[in-house]
Amino acid sequence: MSDLIAAVATGAARSAIGIIRLSGEGAIDCVDAVFRAASGRKMADTPSNKLVYGGIYDENGGLLDMGLCFVARAPKSYTGEDTAELQCHGSPAALGEVLAELLKNGARQAKPGEFTKRAFLNGKLDLTRAEAVIDLIDADTDLAAKNAAGQLAGAVTRKTDAVYSDLLDIAAHFHAVVDFPDDDVEEFELRDYLGTLERAEKTLSDLLDTFGRGRVIRDGLECAIVGSPNVGKSSLLNALLGFERAIVTDIPGTTRDTVEDTCVLGGVKLRLIDTAGLRKTDDAVEMMGVERSYAAMRRAKLIFAVLDSSRPMTGEEAELIKKAASTTRTVMVLNKSDLPVRLAVPAELEGIPRTGLCALTGEGTRKLSELVAGLFQQYGDAPEGEILTNDRQAGEVRAALEAVRDAKGALQEGVTPDAVLTELEDAMDSLGRLGGRTLSSDVTDRIFSRFCVGK
Ligand code: GDP
Repeated sequence: MSDLIAAVATGAARSAIGIIRLSGEGAIDCVDAVFRAASGRKMADTPSNKLVYGGIYDENGGLLDMGLCFVARAPKSYTGEDTAELQCHGSPAALGEVLAELLKNGARQAKPGEFTKRAFLNGKLDLTRAEAVIDLIDADTDLAAKNAAGQLAGAVTRKTDAVYSDLLDIAAHFHAVVDFPDDDVEEFELRDYLGTLERAEKTLSDLLDTFGRGRVIRDGLECAIVGSPNVGKSSLLNALLGFERAIVTDIPGTTRDTVEDTCVLGGVKLRLIDTAGLRKTDDAVEMMGVERSYAAMRRAKLIFAVLDSSRPMTGEEAELIKKAASTTRTVMVLNKSDLPVRLAVPAELEGIPRTGLCALTGEGTRKLSELVAGLFQQYGDAPEGEILTNDRQAGEVRAALEAVRDAKGALQEGVTPDAVLTELEDAMDSLGRLGGRTLSSDVTDRIFSRFCVGK
């Protein structure tokens, strides 16, 4: 068992309950030094996973808090080591005092992610599941949380473990062939192996295909807010974010650069990009802004084309919307719905989704969010964790897929068994790194440093 670590697991904010965790050699004795059960029974004499009520005391016998305690003994705990948890009241000051007492009694402050790292090193979680813990903590949409929960339950690992085991079978056979060159690979075995490799190829490439969607779930979808100057683009950004992110003025041409922030609309995470108003200008700085607006439009997966509904649509605006909608999902936002309507939507733009909105009051944002949910329905399907969201994981799956394809090619071309074996072993190495079976310790350190303290 490793040395004893302790940390506040519930963050630094004031809350109803605050939890302090301990893990490692002497965890139970350490908690017994500060916690006195109301029953008088030591935690060392209490069964695992049983919540006990009592007081937490400093070294002079002064009461710090009243709360609950439980212990879980190795190997049946989150980290696989002896662990203890104190559930106190969530005052950062009181939690700090309790933690200080534990540190006086032999524990040291845990580093970020150290509890989960120990769980990984003790074989309690593979790496994709450990990474799912971070993703679940960081999730800011229902979708991201659901997917991370599915990964925590092992959705990715189940798929890749099956591939690994199939490759292992073939590799074992080819090892035998390499060691005993007189035994050829028989024709029917060859066909069987090709079939297995094709199945592996399909599983890995399907998994890799989910990465595009996974990125959107994690990082958000780029959404450009475009339109003429003064139609209310910055006001719309502020209304959607719920705070004053962009400067709003009635002077046309104030937003000269793009302003970005994220929000969740219709269950979809959006990276909103407020752009400079599109108009012909001689001002060099404004012109650069306009250029950037066009670039943002080209990159975007969704465009909010904002119009001022209190004035007629210009030919330029109609042209812009037509162009945007021909390549990208576009919603016309008819802003300033509080003013008398003077805008008529021309027949050629009839088919494009649109909604009235008042960016000043936020009225109409619900309808806009329903439109977005409808446009991106595929992002609303509950993912069961089988979506790759992590660059590292996607990189390993991609490398494994390439190696499996090469192994298949080598097998078909009748290349020597050791060449096939090399490719198979490359694929297995990648899958091994995916789950963390074969990973250098500096990579492991980097992954776990992304965690928060106490997890
Ligand atoms: P942008 O140049 O397109 O980013 O437009 P702004 O957001 O800076 O707004 C331009 C002007 O329109 C400001 O004076 C806003 O207060 C005003 N404005 C924006 N949205 C609305 C709205 O829904 N109703 C009304 N009446 N005025 C608005």
